[in-house]
Amino acid sequence: MSKTFKILRFDPATDPEPHFEVFFHEPKPNDSLMESLKDIRDQQDPSLAFRYSCREAVCGSCGLVVNGDIALSCRTLIADLDSDLIVVEPLPNLEIQKDLVVDMAPFWEAYRLVEPYLQPEGDVPPKGHLVEEKDMETVFQYITCILCACCYSACPVATRDGRYVGPAALAKLYRFVKDPRDKRPFASLAKVDTPTGAWGCDTVFRCNDVCPKEVRPADGIEGVRRKLVAGRVMRLLGRKS
Ligand code: SF4
Repeated sequence: MSKTFKILRFDPATDPEPHFEVFFHEPKPNDSLMESLKDIRDQQDPSLAFRYSCREAVCGSCGLVVNGDIALSCRTLIADLDSDLIVVEPLPNLEIQKDLVVDMAPFWEAYRLVEPYLQPEGDVPPKGHLVEEKDMETVFQYITCILCACCYSACPVATRDGRYVGPAALAKLYRFVKDPRDKRPFASLAKVDTPTGAWGCDTVFRCNDVCPKEVRPADGIEGVRRKLVAGRVMRLLGRKS
């Protein structure tokens, strides 16, 4: 059955404002939204811009808004939308570069800020920095993040303050804070001990709701806050944190 796709279009080089364009397309049974977008681009308008790569919720490149919900287009089955009208828009909180493609720069800047890599002490031992699997249990939840920015786009704090570090970066920081191999100094957390860092979160859990990988970034933000408070207490007691 043919569906109506109402897709937000915007080319900053030629369009004064974003606007919707309507396409009629008959998806195959079990087609995902990504497959429909590709068909529309290939068969009707080659200028339609959208991101995709792996098609299996690993690359994190195909986040968008469909019928008002933030989702990955590869994971969204047209049949599951249960609607003849499919409204597709780019991720909020990020500037549109073209059509459904947004500028991820603020997301990556926040990610870089938290230094998202292991910082062990000393040289690498001959067998690497080994760790017991049980010690990684609290970390696994955060490792599955695919950096799709769905959480950042759903976050009301990021909407009102572009300086906010955002849920994905803070959850990634917590992933390393909890890693027994990571020995980053407590002082390195100072950059998120701010109103635009860990203390900016409104704790409304929109990030948890939209995350396609069940990372639950808000848990990580709470963890970073606990770490910051514990560090302050230790310093008050004159102990090394
Ligand atoms: Fe995407 Fe979830 Fe990672 Fe946020 S935490 S970037 S929603 S995978």
